[in-house]
Amino acid sequence: MKIIMLGAPGAGKGTQAKMIADKYNVPHISTGDIFRANIKNGTELGMEAKKYMDQGLLVPDELTVKILLDRVAQDDCKNGYVLDGFPRTIPQAQVLDKALSEINDKIDYAINVDVPDENIIKRMGGRRACLSCGATYHIEHIPPKKEGICDTCGKELVLRDDDKPETVGNRLDVYHKQTQPLIEFYSAKGILKTVDGTVDMKDVFSAIESILG
Ligand code: ADP
Ligand code: AMP
Repeated sequence: MKIIMLGAPGAGKGTQAKMIADKYNVPHISTGDIFRANIKNGTELGMEAKKYMDQGLLVPDELTVKILLDRVAQDDCKNGYVLDGFPRTIPQAQVLDKALSEINDKIDYAINVDVPDENIIKRMGGRRACLSCGATYHIEHIPPKKEGICDTCGKELVLRDDDKPETVGNRLDVYHKQTQPLIEFYSAKGILKTVDGTVDMKDVFSAIESILG
């Protein structure tokens, strides 16, 4: 099963993608997590990506596409995957489609987690991320057991640089201009499924389960 998560930054794509990955036993692939891991390790790719990420801009397609295609070619992706944060532009989606059609394959579902901009702004300020294992929390809605500490790996939780209020507005603009057109792109292919992302995360997941079966 190959799934794409669509939605604004902060809509809950990562939260749901992890739950999908657990239940359906497919890897969760987040290009944002891959970039953040590269930043943490001080790689050349990380340094290049950071220039864009810190401003709330998209990392150029050439860089992003290569990383994603390398990742989905790995062995653990044979039975499918859930993509979180990729594609974010029409050209990215086209490259993915082409790569899949060359191996006689295709995406099964594009799940759009729908959340209005007003809710997004509140969520991003409350998001806390573990840069070590990629877990995310929300200080009000999904707090960790111990304040500031990751439940999964015990490391410190941080407010991501790009979740600061001055960057969130930019990220939403970028989303509307560059990423939202993907909703029409996948709708035209007949694989778009939209779920209400404003309800409790368990209820969002139930809606997704009823789509995936
Ligand atoms: P995305 O991957 O789309 O950027 P996340 O999954 O990281 O978004 O979620 C953004 C923030 O909102 C996080 O702090 C997360 O804990 C919180 N969150 C996710 N789903 C919900 C929900 N259904 N209700 C309230 N808060 C949520
Ligand atoms: P995310 O963790 O998905 O919110 O991504 C954080 C940031 O990483 C984005 O704001 C972009 O700067 C960059 N990024 C992640 N995925 C992509 C992508 N598919 N295309 C371009 N930039 C990306």
